[in-house]
Amino acid sequence: MNYDVIIVGAGPGGIFSAYELTKLKPELKVAVFDAGHQLNKRFCPIDGEKIKSCIGCKSCSIMNGFGGAGAFSDGKYNITNDFGGTLYEYIGKKHALELMHYVDDINMRYGGEGTKLYSTAGSKFKKLCLQNGMHLLDASVRHLGTDINYVVLENLYNHLKDKLDFYFDTPVEAIFRTEDGYEIHCANATYTCKKCVISVGRSGSKWMETVCKDLGIQTKSNRVDLGVRVELPAEVFSHLTDELYESKIVYRTQKYGDLVRTFCMNPRGAVVNENTNGIVTVNGHSYEDPAKQTENTNFALLVSKHFSEPFKDSNGYGESIARLSNMLGGGVIAQRFGDLIRGRRSTPNRMNDSFMTPTLNATAGDLSLVLPKRILDGIIEMIYALDKIAPGTANDDTLLYGVEVKFYNMEVAVDEHLESCCEGLYIIGDGSGITHSLSHASASGVHVARDIVSK
Ligand SMILES: Cc1cc2nc3c(=O)[nH]c(=O)nc-3n(C[C@H](O)[C@H](O)[C@H](O)COP(=O)(O)OP(=O)(O)OC[C@H]3O[C@@H](n4cnc5c(N)ncnc54)[C@H](O)[C@@H]3O)c2cc1C
Repeated sequence: MNYDVIIVGAGPGGIFSAYELTKLKPELKVAVFDAGHQLNKRFCPIDGEKIKSCIGCKSCSIMNGFGGAGAFSDGKYNITNDFGGTLYEYIGKKHALELMHYVDDINMRYGGEGTKLYSTAGSKFKKLCLQNGMHLLDASVRHLGTDINYVVLENLYNHLKDKLDFYFDTPVEAIFRTEDGYEIHCANATYTCKKCVISVGRSGSKWMETVCKDLGIQTKSNRVDLGVRVELPAEVFSHLTDELYESKIVYRTQKYGDLVRTFCMNPRGAVVNENTNGIVTVNGHSYEDPAKQTENTNFALLVSKHFSEPFKDSNGYGESIARLSNMLGGGVIAQRFGDLIRGRRSTPNRMNDSFMTPTLNATAGDLSLVLPKRILDGIIEMIYALDKIAPGTANDDTLLYGVEVKFYNMEVAVDEHLESCCEGLYIIGDGSGITHSLSHASASGVHVARDIVSK
């Protein structure tokens, strides 16, 4: 029950902390706690037939358990400081990139070898985007795919399981400071440790808030990203996705000067539900294995909303809008672009007449009743802008699923070691509000492990 290091959360941040700790100092006694199941027990009951939409399981297998929110993700590791988090602000750009490459090397050794590393460097699409009022951000993207990502996680679990103690289905309820470390309280037992790494991701955001409050750790929160997931025939974007896989394109709207950006592009992928604290939103992923690929490509179009004083609850704002779509549609709403611009709702009949087969069974409806006008106007403007570099984007049958919300955890005050004002308490990954991606979260895990060992 007494450990040198306890890691709370077995997502990429927690896993890479554990990996590096056990590699650098195998004699350390380390435990990892996760609210969700171990990898081979994670199973989402939505089968598209008997269970068509989210039934709100006690522990969401998509978000919780070994592998964290990333377990069934597309496994796109973006090696860049341009997006995916602001880790570089704490540890420096060069070091952040080095750590992301280090994580990539480990992923390759644990089952990812042979997967493709895409790059925007020297791409002709940079010019094409600029000529049409858009900007293509720089990145190298390792695409593991949902299938290989799972294999890598399986191999990492097998590597780690005898080197430390895993506690699955064990949510940590509270953390208390002791004279020489921390007490970790779970439902049926209490554990102690000298150092504690908290890596609870987005699903642990509410809990993280209470921990910070109880331990007097400063936080700030003022951002939420709102938008839709776009789905269209893969051919429309294939010239971009074949070369870059994922293109992060930013557009400034003429009407309001807002920035709209593409996010999480999944060539030949599937649109999926995401459940965050009982609110159903939309996301997407795709497989590396051609046999599992679909005929569609999906990506999000998001607008960042930053709030100023006195409003502080940016996530609450995003949640309210997502709740509205859940109220009207019983979950995610889908609308054809042609219906949206004609000011009419999509109906099951209009959907059936469409030339494209949706990959997610969502309720046909009207997104203009859900999304604020300013955000919807920005999305429509960007769809027309994208149509210039990928003709067909603004087709009537292009599907928009809503809402997609990127909740940002409040940013927790930590130093360059990602250590909070409580000595020996590190806060990393998406739960810290500093990272928003697999590569940044994993890199933050390696960073704190090295710091702990060095001390
Ligand atoms: C469908 C989907 C697709 C995605 N695709 C991509 C992608 O292709 N590329 C990319 O870069 N990012 C992607 N992301 C985002 C990416 O998964 C996250 O950025 C990443 O997983 C964050 O890692 P983390 O370790 O910080 O947190 P998480 O992965 O969220 O892990 C946190 C873990 O902590 C556990 N936890 C929470 N609270 C507690 C508690 N109180 N006690 C114990 N355990 C707790 C949770 O059960 C969870 O397992 C995707 C996300 C989703 C949902």
